[in-house]
Amino acid sequence: MNSRYSVLIAGGGPVGWACALAARAALGREQRIAVVERQSSNAVPTSGPLSARVYTVAAGNLTWLKHQGVEFDEGRMAAVSGIVVHGRDGRESLHVCADDAGCAELANVVEHEALTSAIAARAQALGVTLITGDCVGLHREGDGVLAELSDRRLLGTQLLIAADGVRSAVREAAGMRAAQHAYPQSGVVANFACATAHRGVARQWFLPDGSILALLPIAALSGDAAHGAVSMVWSLPHARAKALSALEPVALLASVNAVSAPAVRVLQVTSPAQSFPLSVLRLADPVAGRVLAVGDAAHAMHPLAGQGVNVGLADARCLHSVWQCALQVGADAGHPLLTGRYRRERYGPTFAMQFATDALMRLYNRLDHPVLMAAGDAGMRLFGRLPAFRRTLSTAAIHHAL
Ligand SMILES: Cc1cc2nc3c(=O)[nH]c(=O)nc-3n(C[C@H](O)[C@H](O)[C@H](O)COP(=O)(O)OP(=O)(O)OC[C@H]3O[C@@H](n4cnc5c(N)ncnc54)[C@H](O)[C@@H]3O)c2cc1C
Repeated sequence: MNSRYSVLIAGGGPVGWACALAARAALGREQRIAVVERQSSNAVPTSGPLSARVYTVAAGNLTWLKHQGVEFDEGRMAAVSGIVVHGRDGRESLHVCADDAGCAELANVVEHEALTSAIAARAQALGVTLITGDCVGLHREGDGVLAELSDRRLLGTQLLIAADGVRSAVREAAGMRAAQHAYPQSGVVANFACATAHRGVARQWFLPDGSILALLPIAALSGDAAHGAVSMVWSLPHARAKALSALEPVALLASVNAVSAPAVRVLQVTSPAQSFPLSVLRLADPVAGRVLAVGDAAHAMHPLAGQGVNVGLADARCLHSVWQCALQVGADAGHPLLTGRYRRERYGPTFAMQFATDALMRLYNRLDHPVLMAAGDAGMRLFGRLPAFRRTLSTAAIHHAL
């Protein structure tokens, strides 16, 4: 065996690194903590277009990360101060503002690479080790786990965290039972420069064909506030997603403008379209002895509400508070009482979020049921007039996500 750790995290995505930071902050510098990541670099390009894989990080999660000392390049972020939902007739059916919750912003839109590398930099500065490797198997031994890498290295740990994404090899090796349902849709992402400033408003269109277009405000490359920039996530059937991703820039702009104009008029493609399959994944139990699953490895969901990364960051925050107890009572990081508490605390919120996004996705895809679909629009418009409803939504957005 090469090494022994208190916490070993397989997967250096945003959630894996947030768990490493949580472990370091809660357990102290004496504990050995490492992240195993198969990709050699997640570097953020210092110039050029922003990556089209962006997240709306809820204000509560961002505050927690900053509190842990994570520093973000504010020039690559855009604050979201309002969310507008358009119904199938194109009219605004809901408008939620940060003002409703008495705050300046609901969330910030951040690129995948910028978020991941900012958290990783802070964790590494605090002494978390990065191990480049591919975690392929595990073996349970007494009060610990041996993780096996593809080059046959063995790493011992008191707690192994599976943060290796939706196709988690560690989850499989641990024998965790996952129920995965592939949606008949893919998400197409791309970035655009647009004609007018976005004023911090994220917009979403629920379209008559069941597809969902979201345009999120992002930092403008030129820094010219009069010409905004937006990042697209368009969820649509696989064949149409493939066709959309293959369009020439002019045709792609026309397809987006056909839906989004005049509210948002896109002028130029700044990051090419990319498509990814959508699925919902649930675990019967995110804990299997001294192996614990977080992020997409534990709960993938439809991106229509921008929840994926926020629910994962909430996993890390939960572990942070659970591990603070470990220090008080002298238990190790993978003690069954602590992992049991993680299981109890995360089950409800994760299930609720998956249920809500799945139900919304299904409601808006009842193409065979125009009455139901129209009822959804009318209901949204009616509720949207109630200040208490808007206040509830805006508060939820701040603490969890959009
Ligand atoms: C192209 C694309 C675009 C997306 N766009 C959006 C979007 O616009 N909005 C949104 O909300 N969500 C989007 N998502 C989903 C979003 O990326 C995930 O919800 C989020 O990344 C989950 O974070 P995570 O850290 O749990 O997992 P990931 O970000 O998937 O990180 C997992 C990490 O583990 C590493 N890894 C995998 N297997 C191993 C192994 N065996 N050993 C070691 N390391 C391993 C991977 O290299 C990766 O770095 C997108 C996904 C893709 C693929």
